[in-house]
Amino acid sequence: MKESDFSALLKMTKVKELPLVGPSYEKRLRNLEIETVWDLFHHVPFRFLDFSKNINISDLRIGETATIKGEVTSYVNQYTKKGKPMQIVTIADETGKVNAMWFNQIYLSSTFRKGIKVAIAGELSFMGRQKAILSPEYEIINDNGDQIHTGGLIPIYSETAGISSKWLRRRIHDGWIRYQNNFEEFLPTEINKKDDLVRFKEAIKGAHFQKSMEEFEKAKHRVAFNELLSLHLKNMQRKKEWQKYKISKLILSLLDETKVKMFIKNLPFELTLSQIKVVDEILGDIQKDVPMNRLLEGDVGSGKTIVAAIGMYSVFLCGKKSILMAPTQILANQHYKTLTKLFKKQKLKIGISTGVTKSTGKFDVLVGTHAILQSQLDLNEVSFVVIDEQHKFGVEQRNLLTKKIGLPHVLTMTATPIPRTVALTFFGDLELSILDELPKGRQKITTWLVPEYKRDDGFKWIHDKIVKEKIQAYIVCPLINESETETMTEVKAANKEYENLKKKFNDLRIGLMHGKLKAKEKDTVINKFKNGKIDVLVSTPVVEVGIDIPNATVMVIEAADRFGLASLHQLRGRVGRGKLKSYCLLMTENESEKTQTRLNAMIKYNSGFELSEIDLALRGPGEIYGAKQSGYPELKIADWNDIDLVKDSREAAESFVNQNS
Ligand code: ADP
Ligand code: MG
Repeated sequence: MKESDFSALLKMTKVKELPLVGPSYEKRLRNLEIETVWDLFHHVPFRFLDFSKNINISDLRIGETATIKGEVTSYVNQYTKKGKPMQIVTIADETGKVNAMWFNQIYLSSTFRKGIKVAIAGELSFMGRQKAILSPEYEIINDNGDQIHTGGLIPIYSETAGISSKWLRRRIHDGWIRYQNNFEEFLPTEINKKDDLVRFKEAIKGAHFQKSMEEFEKAKHRVAFNELLSLHLKNMQRKKEWQKYKISKLILSLLDETKVKMFIKNLPFELTLSQIKVVDEILGDIQKDVPMNRLLEGDVGSGKTIVAAIGMYSVFLCGKKSILMAPTQILANQHYKTLTKLFKKQKLKIGISTGVTKSTGKFDVLVGTHAILQSQLDLNEVSFVVIDEQHKFGVEQRNLLTKKIGLPHVLTMTATPIPRTVALTFFGDLELSILDELPKGRQKITTWLVPEYKRDDGFKWIHDKIVKEKIQAYIVCPLINESETETMTEVKAANKEYENLKKKFNDLRIGLMHGKLKAKEKDTVINKFKNGKIDVLVSTPVVEVGIDIPNATVMVIEAADRFGLASLHQLRGRVGRGKLKSYCLLMTENESEKTQTRLNAMIKYNSGFELSEIDLALRGPGEIYGAKQSGYPELKIADWNDIDLVKDSREAAESFVNQNS
């Protein structure tokens, strides 16, 4: 089986080919991400109604849910005392009679005609003094005797306006009759066996027409595998297409690697093993004519900047230019200073372009915010683009870049530690480099959980430490809304904490930082903090990522329970940057066991990768990564926590692709 015919028919056939699916249903189905027959069958129920007890009418008991079958003997439309229309249908089998009742469903008169055979599923209870099955599921029994809505485990699907589970059951049933012979297995038998997967046809059947929960779970496992497999294949396809591009400003001259080695040797520190590996990967990329499309994932403080800088230096040695884009002006300024110092001897011209600072003239490396791409600057000679603190370079930005520069080498860097297997799936279309160790000699940041009753003591400790040791502290205010942009409520909370602290610590210098400040004001605050003119910096949760201030050694996070572990770890990474011992105080009023377990992981672990795995297990990826807004694909069936399935499906995808190349 080829990758290209991987159930091609089912993927090609649009839902509108199914009976009774017209344009308006087609549109509604799109809300459920269902466009093809393949999608429809991969829309797996999330729970079931258990109507599997099939009994005679005389065996019905009050409070018991069951399915009965019989003939309609009468249909009456009545009114309740309050004037609500009520439909009463009497059904009889050989053993007896029972009433089923609905409210406000006058149209039922056309369904329940006398003499027709029906199945009714629901619970027998009392309506006033009368026994009746209230608002049950029902269906007319055709000649073929098929029951879709009664008589077994009845699937409930996620629905959307105008698309009910009942509607879906019918379409899936009819679709199955038409297409069941198209669900040919596309996996090699070894994979079915190795990964313990039921066969495709069996899986689709078991996902929708299951006889038992056990059958359903097995089926779902296989269908989830299909979902992941499609995702991997799509990414691999994208990657393959990328390989066809040619870089627009070819780096023609050979890279003088001895110069690069000298530069590395003269650094004030030794590179870690993973830094050396990633540098090799980057140098390999920039000497190719395929544009680099690489993501560098590395924990806070793992030393991503120097790795990127070595890349930029190499590009300079080949007579080309680089740009480095940061998410904020403050970070851009910081990079500008770092690079200026770093490249002093090598005589690289470093330029800067942010809303506040602009250097004009020639550059070898230009540092700026993402706004560089919209600026009037001439970026024609740029061959290498580094984007800091971003997980994914979106399609739009890519288009902007292509318009402005053509196809340069692109290195994206992120400190969001995502477990490797998940990253390989999320970012399967990119090359992935991982810095998974910290430079030698980093001290572990001592982390404490501070419950409400110890809060005052905590603050007193900070106060005394600042006075005695002249260190500085960050205070991060509560997260109200887990999104990447700050809300007004968050700004207000920060303002309030700032005012309180000014009174409480009237002998200390308190600063305030939030996104609503003007760029110049932000600059002033951060510079004051950097130069030791502010002792305590109060900020909103979106405190500048990547800030590097070694004398700030205490981090307080208010309402720590509201953050994911990955975010807490990021925030904590603002301290512990120098030789001084650093501390992180997690303030929380939440004493639930779950919260305590989660926050205790912060005390135990110092690695972002480990923490992200724990968070993944405890909270699920949706919550950690803010799935939708960060452009992560949301899974409909599979679960990111199922690392084995993610791995197995990836291996299968690889073998598919290898077979066909
Ligand atoms: P991040 O990966 O979070 O962006 P940075 O690049 O800002 O980390 O590096 C953090 C600090 O570690 C910087 O001060 C940098 O100079 C230093 N650093 C980087 N690599 C090493 C190393 N191999 N040994 C010691 N210090 C290093
Ligand atoms: Mg950084």
